[in-house]
Amino acid sequence: MGTRLIIVSNRVAVPEAGGNATPGGLAVAVKAALKNRTGLWFGWSGKAQDETDSEPRIIERNKITYVVIDISTHDFQEYYNGFANRVLWPILHYRVDLAEFSRADLSGYMRVNRLFADKLGELIEEDDVIWVHDYHLMPLAKELRHRGHANPIGFYLHIPCAPPDILVALPRHQEILGSLSFYDLVGFQTENDRDNFNHYLVSHGAQAGRDGTSFTLDGRQVRTGAFPVGIETAAYARLARNAARSDFVREFEESLAGRKLVLGVDRLDYSKGILHRINAFDRFLEMNPNWRSRVTFLQITPRSRADIQEYAAIEDEVTTLVGRINGRYGEASWTPIRYVNRSYSRTALAGLYRAANVALVTPLRDGMNLVAKEFVAAQDAQDPGVLILSQFAGAAAELDRALIVNPHESEGVAAALKRALDMPIDERRQRYKKMFDHLAHNDIERWAKNYLGTLADTRQRPGLLDGLRTLFGSLA
Ligand code: UDP
Repeated sequence: MGTRLIIVSNRVAVPEAGGNATPGGLAVAVKAALKNRTGLWFGWSGKAQDETDSEPRIIERNKITYVVIDISTHDFQEYYNGFANRVLWPILHYRVDLAEFSRADLSGYMRVNRLFADKLGELIEEDDVIWVHDYHLMPLAKELRHRGHANPIGFYLHIPCAPPDILVALPRHQEILGSLSFYDLVGFQTENDRDNFNHYLVSHGAQAGRDGTSFTLDGRQVRTGAFPVGIETAAYARLARNAARSDFVREFEESLAGRKLVLGVDRLDYSKGILHRINAFDRFLEMNPNWRSRVTFLQITPRSRADIQEYAAIEDEVTTLVGRINGRYGEASWTPIRYVNRSYSRTALAGLYRAANVALVTPLRDGMNLVAKEFVAAQDAQDPGVLILSQFAGAAAELDRALIVNPHESEGVAAALKRALDMPIDERRQRYKKMFDHLAHNDIERWAKNYLGTLADTRQRPGLLDGLRTLFGSLA
């Protein structure tokens, strides 16, 4: 049967029959990896039930094969809500203070990884290449190896990797992070994330190879690398151009009544720095009375992980703060901050990005932040908006022509906002062009190719490389 690419992630975004799903960042990336390649996408269906037989279901849609399993409500609580999102997520985002570890959750995490390995194991053929995505599935390669699968297996972490001093706060970190050494290649969003992990490996007994990219731990070889995730830049720019002409965007622009638009788009998550950002907008209005009633800040914030207490708490805080600022500065005909908890379709969002004069992308820590890249791709080259970007977003390593800010300093963000709103057209065009060219060159297709090419190089076995070359194209 030739070489297939098997993508594994926690959730599998199966589009509704006949419709188009609104895929998140990971889904867009996975689809790009599978485009023009033979393969399938394996993972959790998104359904958690009390009783489940967890037999895989195969779904064919838009030329992609999806294989999904259900998990039990109990597993969902311990593996997903518990260990993945209450422990790994905060610690990898440098928030040890928010981690809530329990041994029961860790055993749930391990149990679901074993379940994935069992079910996936039934599908794997000798020539398959396996690419595992994100923090939910760190021990998966170890489980697969124990079941005798010698295939090339790669891992990609979509979120940040904290430095070793923070990582060691993770109870049983050697068991969890150390299991990444069972992969052939471990990929990160930035060089900083990669270096943090490299330092962790070396401080826990791994030997660095001469090239500095390979490590040996307990006799196993693992390679690490930085592969910043991209977007479908050209397609996104087209989408935004068309969306700008839609009734939705026209009506929205009319509602602004000629005011400038500042836009924020983030899942409701403590890592996104939403409170800090709103405080900075407050500072901006305080320091610049002449801008009052001339600018509207639209903050789009779909709720996420609502059954985790931290997330409910932040929602209350944001709502209160927005209310206070709107009360203080608002007028009968002007609401300074429009705060909405709903999510928008890919098309609607592209149109809003293009309508915006400034994007405020100020996470306290973020693996990449695709909103920053999408905003740039969506701009009108003749009259582009300005990106204000946190130095702590992975995207800042690439988009250095944004106005880079420290989200912890509200005066600095307020000053950047003023500068962005006043920025002359020539400077806006120059900054936009540099960033757009970078995104056009380093798009999602290139990301998939780079990663898979490196994985193929890492696992040169007789016969295998030819199969991989056919699958992944030139490895130049
Ligand atoms: N997004 C969307 N509709 C919304 C809000 C966000 O489709 O109402 C998409 C957005 O276009 C982006 C993704 O969700 O592709 C968010 O990715 P990002 O890396 O910025 O943050 P994450 O949520 O993955 O932490």
